[in-house]
Amino acid sequence: MEKMDYRDAFKKCSRCGGCLAHCPLYLATNREQYVARGKVELMENVALGNLKWNDRLAQIFSTCLLCGSCTEN
Ligand code: SF4
Repeated sequence: MEKMDYRDAFKKCSRCGGCLAHCPLYLATNREQYVARGKVELMENVALGNLKWNDRLAQIFSTCLLCGSCTEN
């Protein structure tokens, strides 16, 4: 597998929102922070230094069913 700079990894998400309709957590809560697009946005801001890692972010990132539906779709 080719090595990728983490900043390029964030650009792999086109922010289309296609994952929203397939995430059971988003469908149950209507909170974008729990779906892939929201998590990419949050993590990019942490990586860029715009957002400091904290307990709330840890809770958001650990709230995932790992169902793979966002990746599949
Ligand atoms: S793995 Fe499942 S629960 Fe987690 S973000 Fe993707 S669709 Fe949502």
